[in-house]
Amino acid sequence: MVAKLTSMKPLSKQDYLRKIPSVDELLRAPDIQELCARFPRAAVTSTVQRVLAETRRTLLARADGAPGDGDFSLQDIQQQVAAHLQKTCKPSLQRVINATGVVIHTNLGRAPLAEHALRLVAETASRYSNLEFDLERGERGSRYVHVREILQQITGAQDAFVVNNNAAAVLLCLSTLARGREVIISRGELIEIGGSFRIPEVMEQSGAQLREVGTTNRTHLGDYRQAITEHTALILKVHPSNYQLVGFTADVSLRDLKQLGTEFHLPVMFDMGSGNLIPPQQFGLQDEPTVQEAVNQGADIITFSGDKLVGGPQAGIILGETGVIAAIARNPLTRALRIDKLTLAALEATLRLYSCDPDCFRHIPVLSMLSVAENTLKKCARTIVRALKKHAVPMDIAVVQDSSKIGGGSYPLHDLPTWAVSLAPKTMSPQDLERKLRTGTPPVIVRINRERVIIDTRTLFPEEAGMVAKAIIALFAQTA
Ligand SMILES: *Cc1c(COP(=O)(O)O)cnc(C)c1O
Repeated sequence: MVAKLTSMKPLSKQDYLRKIPSVDELLRAPDIQELCARFPRAAVTSTVQRVLAETRRTLLARADGAPGDGDFSLQDIQQQVAAHLQKTCKPSLQRVINATGVVIHTNLGRAPLAEHALRLVAETASRYSNLEFDLERGERGSRYVHVREILQQITGAQDAFVVNNNAAAVLLCLSTLARGREVIISRGELIEIGGSFRIPEVMEQSGAQLREVGTTNRTHLGDYRQAITEHTALILKVHPSNYQLVGFTADVSLRDLKQLGTEFHLPVMFDMGSGNLIPPQQFGLQDEPTVQEAVNQGADIITFSGDKLVGGPQAGIILGETGVIAAIARNPLTRALRIDKLTLAALEATLRLYSCDPDCFRHIPVLSMLSVAENTLKKCARTIVRALKKHAVPMDIAVVQDSSKIGGGSYPLHDLPTWAVSLAPKTMSPQDLERKLRTGTPPVIVRINRERVIIDTRTLFPEEAGMVAKAIIALFAQTA
């Protein structure tokens, strides 16, 4: 077609513009009619309009007589419309395979949910539920009761409340307890979390004033004591989460802060960030307090995320005394920050695993990935290597020891020993391989270390080892 055109007098822009079919003409075309049976008519019409507008724009931007993509025929434009429609029907949010070894990966959706959580979400969200209905009394109930008792049971706290995420939990607590007054916080705990989002800025939105004490690396009990005035409403401790000070440092324990709080009749709040519900020694974290310990040490308010170490959905969990929780529940902000029913179902089912399932380590993916035996990881790496070698992919392949991260801004200095597959492709750069895996279906996310692609087996689900091998083999089958 192009050859034929160029052998004649080249068409001018005007000639091409005249060739472009009208909207009506397109909508009458048989192929487009067929699309109308498969897609909503309005979507077809708007796509036709969009493709035509784009075609005109491309054409006008082009130098007169220059050849370009497409011949602007009815056929050509019909194909573009079909391609556009197909693309818009594919969800943007999709499953990916996390081969980075970062367990709570902030960019990859943090905690993958347990099957039990998904089942309760599917069952209660696809039908009606007793979300706010008391089945015993047959009258209006509260959505918060579904997780309240179980949180009391697991953590030992007097009462509990849940909101949309932990940032919301912090905002709500400060707004309830310290609006218009001062909150004492150590300078070493003023943190910024993912996406350059600063906790202190969220805190200030509550209307509380932060009174920073100590220096970045050292804060003593005396610093807190000196800062207490008649304007003080609360003493706040924040888990530094995504950074750790090493060397010449000092911070004040929750226990000491509680004593100070008692002396001055001030509540003490602890934003734990990740919030372990099980002793983290099981995955090698020695000095990290559990939520239960923080409760025992007398924190008046505790907040943490549902989708970090808890391994549930995005949510903010608030623990405290009944009176405090009641005040929080009365704050009008709770309506703006309230947890939705999908989240609530996933959270309830996850929490029930902690209290009812002796095998909860196996059933909550985050816990299972953090506690998996090294030997299992090594076997998984070997499985992938065997598959790659069998297909003779042109690469230098090795099973290597490496280290994974907990992630989610949790314990940055804590490495978990892991086994990985290390790849040095011979026919493309490691960057090319990384990109091709990332843009494949499903996307496989890997890291590059010293010019080698590293596939960390810790964060692979059982069925994913085979999928990763297949994705790599397919890449080389194409280029061969
Ligand atoms: C992660 C984190 C938050 C924010 O929690 P989200 O659930 O992401 O809103 C707040 N405080 C600390 C200490 C954290 O680690």
